[in-house]
Amino acid sequence: MFKVKKAGKQSRPKSPLLWLGTNTCGGDALSFMNSLDPGYWDVLTDLIDFRYFYLNMTAEGDMATGILDDAMVRWPGKYILVVEGTVPVKSNGLYSVVGWRNGEPLTALQAVQELGAKARHVIAVGTCASFGGPFAASPNPTGSLPVQSVLDNRVINVPGCPVNPDWMMGTLVHLIRFGEPKLDSFGRPLLFYKETIHNQCQRRHYFDNSIFAKQPGEPWCLYKVGCKGPDTFADCPNRQWSGEHLSWPVKANAPCIGCVNPEFPDGNAPFFEHLSDVYLPGTRVTANRVGAITAAATALGIGAHLTGTILTGRLASTYKKGFSGTKKGLKTIGKLMQGLGKKR
Ligand code: SF4
Repeated sequence: MFKVKKAGKQSRPKSPLLWLGTNTCGGDALSFMNSLDPGYWDVLTDLIDFRYFYLNMTAEGDMATGILDDAMVRWPGKYILVVEGTVPVKSNGLYSVVGWRNGEPLTALQAVQELGAKARHVIAVGTCASFGGPFAASPNPTGSLPVQSVLDNRVINVPGCPVNPDWMMGTLVHLIRFGEPKLDSFGRPLLFYKETIHNQCQRRHYFDNSIFAKQPGEPWCLYKVGCKGPDTFADCPNRQWSGEHLSWPVKANAPCIGCVNPEFPDGNAPFFEHLSDVYLPGTRVTANRVGAITAAATALGIGAHLTGTILTGRLASTYKKGFSGTKKGLKTIGKLMQGLGKKR
């Protein structure tokens, strides 16, 4: 079990933290509060000085807004700003108002830009804050943007719809105890988003041997019913969910929908249609055709299992280097992210 501090000792001052809710369903805050190790209570008492938490604090109205203003004066360059949700920019940002200041609405856009400019670290929690997610999905009537696109300083993206409690808690603890974790090109901590789900999946041997489920609910590889595991980078198969790490979508016989991906959800829809053809490295054959080739090899007297292993063994090594993705959306968002965050 992770220990935040030695019993009876307050070894260091707690880090001030502000958690803003913008255009969000609130799922990431709820998920975070379900963290078990360390638990939410441990974090409150030993690690973080939670000054503002839109979902879980007693202050409201002017008092709540005053905490935000106060933080910029008392702890410039010292506090951690967490933003959950997109930042809408249409209609002067009035699609998301976090409070009132001097009788005027304080928009999420103002709050994120003012607070972000003076923060020591900025974390975008959840896929909406990180990449736009469902709140920026087409036709995006509010002009919702990810946090990084309205700030010049670097934003650490911790996506997930919702975020896994460990991903957010681990990022926070790492920031406070060891400094900024290593990030990938999308600003995600490599601690949690380094490897594809496909490479860690308990059903990978079914994929390698072309044993595919024909409908959700079947206990085989779910690639053909839409699983986005091959181009989704997260540790769900190993870490799992539900507080005590009990299960994850594929274990529950449902395909991964790629919720941590920059192109989610538009680029991953329809969820139950499989990814465009996945090419096997060193061959001109797509994953769709593995089954056909295996059958042909069997007819020629070559073992189907051996054929599948040869083909997919090459596939596995390429996935280990990082699946490049085949969709336009990923490339577009990749370019967008490269232009954001001047310090990145
Ligand atoms: S396609 Fe999905 S279900 Fe199949 S092995 Fe990959 S991650 Fe697992």
